[in-house]
Amino acid sequence: MRSFATLRRRQLLGIGSRRLRSTLTLSTTVHQYPHTHISKEEQYITPSFVNNEFIKSEAKTWYDIHDPATNEVVSTVAQSTPEELEEAISSSDSAFNAWREYSVIKRQSIAFKFVELLKLNMDRLASMIVLEQGKTFQDARGDVLRGLQVAEASCNVTNDLMSSSLEVASDMETKMVREPLGVITSICPFNFPAMVPLWSLPLVLVSGNTIVLKPSERVPGAAMIIAELCREAGVPPGVVNMVHGKHDTVNKLIKDPRIKAVTFVGGDGAGKYIYEEATRNGKRVQANLGAKNHLIVLPDADKAHFVNAVNGAAFGAAGQRCMAISVLVTVGKETHGWLDDVVADAKKLTVGSGFDSKTDLGPLISPEALERAEMIIDDSVKQGAEIMLDGRGYKHPNPQFTKGNWLGPTILKNISPGMRAYDEEIFGPVLSVVNVDTFDEAIQLVNSNKYGNGVSLFTSSGSSAQKFTKNINCGQVGVNVPIPVPLPMFSFTGNKASFLGDLNFYGKAGMTFLTQPKTITTLWKTTPFEPSSKPSVSMPTQT
Ligand code: NAD
Repeated sequence: MRSFATLRRRQLLGIGSRRLRSTLTLSTTVHQYPHTHISKEEQYITPSFVNNEFIKSEAKTWYDIHDPATNEVVSTVAQSTPEELEEAISSSDSAFNAWREYSVIKRQSIAFKFVELLKLNMDRLASMIVLEQGKTFQDARGDVLRGLQVAEASCNVTNDLMSSSLEVASDMETKMVREPLGVITSICPFNFPAMVPLWSLPLVLVSGNTIVLKPSERVPGAAMIIAELCREAGVPPGVVNMVHGKHDTVNKLIKDPRIKAVTFVGGDGAGKYIYEEATRNGKRVQANLGAKNHLIVLPDADKAHFVNAVNGAAFGAAGQRCMAISVLVTVGKETHGWLDDVVADAKKLTVGSGFDSKTDLGPLISPEALERAEMIIDDSVKQGAEIMLDGRGYKHPNPQFTKGNWLGPTILKNISPGMRAYDEEIFGPVLSVVNVDTFDEAIQLVNSNKYGNGVSLFTSSGSSAQKFTKNINCGQVGVNVPIPVPLPMFSFTGNKASFLGDLNFYGKAGMTFLTQPKTITTLWKTTPFEPSSKPSVSMPTQT
């Protein structure tokens, strides 16, 4: 296997023994990275990152990473061995005390450098995302940008960690500071290979914590570049470690007593299990889970704006966004009539390789994801859905892509709760249309849905918008904005079944999640102490 990673053998001194260890260098660089799909000869090994070194795992179990546009294997990634997991956790644990002692200014200057490096490496990161995940290059740059914005916001740490103090009695002061927790673990999904690792990592660093991060085993390449950039920015060995694998890795991370908090983003099954198991083991957890996001359109909406927005939000990234619009709620007969325009515009979208600048949406992540999405469409049709636009069976004209996981934009109408297309998260380019008679029914529909990630209303009425924002039960609400993800000076605020935990990702809540308060009360008397005849043992009664 020729590799993007060049193998070199280095002798390292193990504890009490001398052993050989293979270290790797990522062979993508800021100037050299794939601009198209790669050949078999260019396959690369995905390393782990421990103590600031890229390590070739000694695992017996390796997983293939497929390019979703060709289904060719592009890389392999290990199921990190128990010894490698132990080494990573112990490395982060040992690095914690020294890292928390770095002054906040020093950690902030590393964060500034990290931001600069992320900007320089944006295209390199995006190209790795296209290769392993399939989204278009432009969209992959957006994936990096939304993570970069969290890194930029983390540079505000000197304000975010500002303590408060008060002279509570004469010469007596109480100060409250926030301190880091220790080792944090992040468990990441496949759909945002750069953004989701960056939802936690920069805040972990500036707050003085250390991290063991597990990227999705399907798309680990971008996270490995991020690890390299941390090292280049001056993050000391052990502060950032990255391991790989599936359940065995996660089980070790969520049970090990040295890990104090878990940040998870992914599907409901893994999320509920991880939340329950990690909290049972005494850890803080923030877990972002699945979604079903509605867009409600009222007859007074700007039709052209709505048609453009709904297509972008439903079909961008092939619907593999946790904030993608998957349900369109048309209110009344008139807006239902606008569906023909939605379909006409959706037909203009080009399905294909993410490296092709003419492509609007890439493939689904795997043949299994494609099969499941098609099955849900089939079943929904049996349940009474009508297909307005059918993306099943899309064949790419270029023979290089005949094995890709293609599903074209699909629009289903006559959908209602109880049908698979409404009840399940499809995570593909499928828009389900529900028609209701009144605005109140539309609000009721959204509020009854178990998920609460995102919702949007298209209208030109301020009064309707006001009624909507006050009465809707969903964590991220947009008015004439189809995907209302807040920038990182706020937090990512999904609610209901889309979130488990108390403190959301990034923003003030993110920093609170990663730190614990400590109050310190001191008395430095300016006048001499006046002894009484005997010690006072009652609680003070004077104020
Ligand atoms: P996933 O749940 O399959 O995997 C997420 C992570 O959990 C991976 O690292 C995986 O290795 C691990 N994992 C999977 N099953 C596990 C198990 N049984 N035990 C232990 N670990 C397990 O999710 P995915 O398919 O990678 O990502 C898509 C999902 O993520 C969608 O449901 C999407 O809505 C959700 N998501 C949510 C948000 C959000 O902010 N709400 C953002 C992005 C993605």
